[in-house]
Amino acid sequence: MDEKDLKLEDIFGTTHFSNDADGINLIAIIGAGVMGQGLAQTIASAGMEVIVVEIDEEHLENAKKLLSESLDRDIKRWSVTESEKKAILSRITWKKSLEAVKKCDIVIEAVAEDFNLKEEIFQKLDKLVKENTIFVSNTSTLSLTRIAETISRPDKMIGMHFLNPVPKIPLVELVKCLHTSKGTLKIAKIFASKIGKTPVEVYEYPGFVTTRAIVPLLNEAMYILMEGVATAEHIDTAMKLGYNFQNGPLEMADMMGLDEVLTWMETLWKTLGEPRYRACPILRKLVRERKLGKKTGEGFYKYDKNGKIISSSF
Ligand code: NAD
Repeated sequence: MDEKDLKLEDIFGTTHFSNDADGINLIAIIGAGVMGQGLAQTIASAGMEVIVVEIDEEHLENAKKLLSESLDRDIKRWSVTESEKKAILSRITWKKSLEAVKKCDIVIEAVAEDFNLKEEIFQKLDKLVKENTIFVSNTSTLSLTRIAETISRPDKMIGMHFLNPVPKIPLVELVKCLHTSKGTLKIAKIFASKIGKTPVEVYEYPGFVTTRAIVPLLNEAMYILMEGVATAEHIDTAMKLGYNFQNGPLEMADMMGLDEVLTWMETLWKTLGEPRYRACPILRKLVRERKLGKKTGEGFYKYDKNGKIISSSF
């Protein structure tokens, strides 16, 4: 049967439906870093209830503060009103324990790009949440099939690769692993459309489409900088004006988080074996110095507390 012809009750079961016909009401997000915050804002803005889980109070408070500041910037741009901000924040609950997500319809994992950490979280969730809950990961490069095979619901595992900043990027890659069922794919598509994203279906493969294609470009820009061909600002300006990019590659890497970019490159290099994925030494140096880009206030550029570029670091 084609996935389009599947009925939601065949996927979720008749007892599933709570207060909404499609059965997708309560979403959990595990990890409130760069992506988790963007996801919480996007999903709550679409009217769904969200539970966000972080490791401790400090991380929760930081994420709350950054999310509130992000909405304040949207208010200044007239894209959100004060009362919408209040409504969005009121739909988000902040928790320190996975226990809190027991009743969720979809759980989205957005912790750092670490296979063992992701595997451990999904195994814990598998024992906690109801049997029909869909498991989503935002991984950029890791194999969800390998994780799916260690849980009792491999058919309910799917990748939804959102891009940063989540509220502004209209795309999501739907990553089908070996065991992903048509029903799970259907739910992921409905969820994507509820939050205003255009889904593109891809098969699981390191880096999918977007990460695999962008990483060599970011790396090449770093080599151009390291070889002294141009300054960071001139490289970014050249690429923005020359190719109509919204952000230059070095600014883009800073926005993504340089630790994440390095981890993606390491995985792509290891799994695909292509030298084009070997990370530029300048990236390794910045990550060693914990200059991780916008999220730490310094990377290829220095940032003020509102995330605006003050000056170039090179
Ligand atoms: P990040 O480092 O900014 O955030 C990860 C968060 O997870 C941290 O706040 C950390 O405290 C939290 N965390 C760690 N262990 C946890 C646990 N056990 N329970 C709850 N929270 C926990 O990382 P990010 O940039 O948001 O990336 C998250 C995922 O999204 C990665 O898999 C990454 O590859 C993917 N991704 C990132 C981007 C990007 O541009 N940054 C784009 C697409 C996909």
